[in-house]
Amino acid sequence: MLSYTGVSKTYADGTQALKEVTLEIPAGQFCVLLGPSGAGKTTLLKMANYLVRPSGGVVSIDGTQITDRNLQSLRPYVSMIHQHFNLVPRLSVEENVIAGALSKLKLWRVLFRSYPEHLRRQAAKLVESVGLQEKHFLRKASELSGGQQQRVGIARAFILEPKIVLADEPVASLDPKISREVLQILKTAAKSRGTAVVCSLHQVELAQEFADRIIGMHDGEIIADCKADELDAAIVKKIYEGHENELEESVSQQVLPADQDRDTPQPFNGKEYANC
Ligand code: ADP
Repeated sequence: MLSYTGVSKTYADGTQALKEVTLEIPAGQFCVLLGPSGAGKTTLLKMANYLVRPSGGVVSIDGTQITDRNLQSLRPYVSMIHQHFNLVPRLSVEENVIAGALSKLKLWRVLFRSYPEHLRRQAAKLVESVGLQEKHFLRKASELSGGQQQRVGIARAFILEPKIVLADEPVASLDPKISREVLQILKTAAKSRGTAVVCSLHQVELAQEFADRIIGMHDGEIIADCKADELDAAIVKKIYEGHENELEESVSQQVLPADQDRDTPQPFNGKEYANC
């Protein structure tokens, strides 16, 4: 589905954001990129829609290398959900969802805001599926709460039935309860369609709760690649080495049972990490 082969990125100022990353993400997988800020998560995500060009290596979708030449034809396969929602505040929920299909619309339809009926029906279905009500449909995006706006962001991301949804810290602006609701909606939408999700997160617990697979990134490299239930304290420590303050911020305290065997890998737990 989505593959990176020996992918590197050096920005114009010399920052080496990715170092020879090789990674394959199959259809339908909910894959979380976990790591401290600056690890290269956003760079990796944005290469899948070519918002960032690799300096070396190959990024492919279904075996086709993404290039400037085929970018337009591959674009509908990949959509993105943003940390700050990126909705147009003065437009309605309906129009924001339809905005996800602009690349498929004739210019006159966009200019006159005259959208095909089938797209309006599809938008209405999606809005309902992300847990919003009919009354929200014609409301301006600016009148919605953060959690509601991100639901609209999810609906927009699915309107062209993409193969891959990229989510860049999609719940970083939301409180823990709403974050869980939003991630559950994203996961349900993706699983029901067989869509792959690549989602960057910095909250270890949320990664464990929602990911099928966790890719641990540090300093432009993949240093861990495991199933969510295989993530243990040693791996988390390695991922956040030198960024322990970020880890502490993201962890809510849990208590390990007193008699738990310390020699076998334990599910990650903030308290245990603090004792390492
Ligand atoms: P993350 O998403 O894990 O926080 P990023 O991919 O945003 O990491 O950044 C990886 C590294 O690349 C960081 O050191 C960051 O400062 C740097 N970086 C990101 N974008 C640019 C850019 N446009 N120009 C220069 N350096 C950049």
